[in-house]
Amino acid sequence: MKTEEEYDVVVVGSGAAGMTAALAAAHHGLSAVVIEREKVYGGSTARSGGGLWLPGPEASTYLKHVAGDEVAPARRDALLAYGPEVLAFVEKHTPLEFVRVPGYPDYHPEAPGGLAEGRTVEPRPLDVRRIGADLETLAPPYRAAPNGMAVTAVDYRWLSLGMRHPRSALTAVRLAVSRFRGHRLTMGQALAAGLRAGLRRAGVPVLMDTPMTGLDVEEGRVVAVRSGARTWRARRGVILASGGFERNERMRREHQDLGTEWTVGAPGNTGDGIVMGDELGAALDLMDEAWWGPSLPLTGGPYFCLAERNLPGSLMVDGSGRRFVNESAPYVDVVHVMLGRRTGTPHLPSWLITDRTYRDRYLFAGRAPRTPLPRRWFDAGVAHRADTVEGLAASIGVPAEELRRTVGRFNGFAASGRDDDFGRGDSAYDRYYGDPRQRPNPCLGPLLKPPFHAFALVPGDLGTKGGLRTDERARVLRPDGTHVPGLYAAGNTSASVMGRGYAGAGATLGPAMTFGYLAALDLTG
Ligand SMILES: Cc1cc2nc3c(=O)[nH]c(=O)nc-3n(C[C@H](O)[C@H](O)[C@H](O)COP(=O)(O)OP(=O)(O)OC[C@H]3O[C@@H](n4cnc5c(N)ncnc54)[C@H](O)[C@@H]3O)c2cc1C
Repeated sequence: MKTEEEYDVVVVGSGAAGMTAALAAAHHGLSAVVIEREKVYGGSTARSGGGLWLPGPEASTYLKHVAGDEVAPARRDALLAYGPEVLAFVEKHTPLEFVRVPGYPDYHPEAPGGLAEGRTVEPRPLDVRRIGADLETLAPPYRAAPNGMAVTAVDYRWLSLGMRHPRSALTAVRLAVSRFRGHRLTMGQALAAGLRAGLRRAGVPVLMDTPMTGLDVEEGRVVAVRSGARTWRARRGVILASGGFERNERMRREHQDLGTEWTVGAPGNTGDGIVMGDELGAALDLMDEAWWGPSLPLTGGPYFCLAERNLPGSLMVDGSGRRFVNESAPYVDVVHVMLGRRTGTPHLPSWLITDRTYRDRYLFAGRAPRTPLPRRWFDAGVAHRADTVEGLAASIGVPAEELRRTVGRFNGFAASGRDDDFGRGDSAYDRYYGDPRQRPNPCLGPLLKPPFHAFALVPGDLGTKGGLRTDERARVLRPDGTHVPGLYAAGNTSASVMGRGYAGAGATLGPAMTFGYLAALDLTG
């Protein structure tokens, strides 16, 4: 049976971009509905770390440096002009509160305008009683913390150090005790659930299990969204916030020469919004890009590595047995090098090499120090172990003499505290996830003690960042610069305001929310 409903604004996708857009529309006096294809809301947002990079215009020089020339200056300016307003708006109209992540640097703190003390914020733990029944339809996190502990981004930093730092021990104890304070959501779980609670309060319906299957156009204007036989007419406009195309095998092969197996993005992100915008003549930008990160291709799904590459006693090599990158650099940059994006020379396969001291001290892919690694990792060829560097080289098929030389040279850098080849540990970003007790350089420790491990690293991602070209009001643009009337896009459905760069933790969610907000604002006009 055909049904038709009418709203001022129809939003497609229930991630940070879509929910912020709908919330802003509602609080500016418009009627809005969100449709979501999955049985759960939140998309990648619910899986995420929930960090937000939303500074004001003081970050202008820095953002220009990071985003480069591919991004229109007006879009960069809009992000910085409205970012703080978006944060205040969300705090006002949802149960969310945000706190600064202390000392989490911009990803390029030494670049012009970069800040070593950082400017990322994250949600405070959110009591599930504020969420009510909507907890049942919240998309799952990427990895649940053990025993339902409320781990924040700040906690992760200290936990990754095992018991090396008094703060690490204190964090572990505090988290264990905090379980008795009731069930609290953190990171992306808090962000998605908090936005959903705001929408419930504002009376905005979020319809699950409702995939957009088409857009209706009348006299050149987008006027409705279809899901099978159901239609939602949009009096003012449609906002596409259906995420990226990380789960679309065909599009990834076509634009990136990679498949979908190494993404940790949400299962529903198959690029539908991008495809439909494209069909209406929109321009596409940055389609070869993603929010990349070196990842372990574990048997149960990829593991996105953060602190694992910064902690001392580890290094990365390619098939030649030589290092090729500053291992501790921001994750997008490391994969650009792995893929050979600038040089044309890829460094695949890639291996993370570690020694026993590293394994005895630090958390590894969520595994506590000193605990045995799963047999299946070794059976699958993701992990290798040997008592000598040469034995490890044989196991992973790299030249033994070369790997021995690489480790020897690296151990010299660890002793001097200076990585003469790639400058690891020079940046405040590298050191954030390093070990403060490691002297003289918190990211550089020698690999001396057997057994040695090698772990396969692949070019994984948090999602794609290319998509529909938009302007500073989030309107979808055609190649000739005119906009598609009635059509807006935000979040990973739109080509990122970060260009090929990544300003800091939260540089995908912050802009997603801001451009969702700006789309709604434009529709009030
Ligand atoms: C593990 C992990 C950690 C991360 N940590 C951070 C972080 O700390 N900070 C940060 O800034 N970024 C982080 N990211 C990236 C960030 O989560 C994403 O870039 C962001 O969530 C994208 O938001 P979005 O609103 O565009 O899309 P999403 O949140 O992915 O939402 C898109 C929604 O659209 C739905 N959809 C798709 N197609 C249709 C359709 N046809 N009809 C209806 N609905 C549809 C999807 O099912 C999905 O629910 C992380 C990502 C992951 C996976």
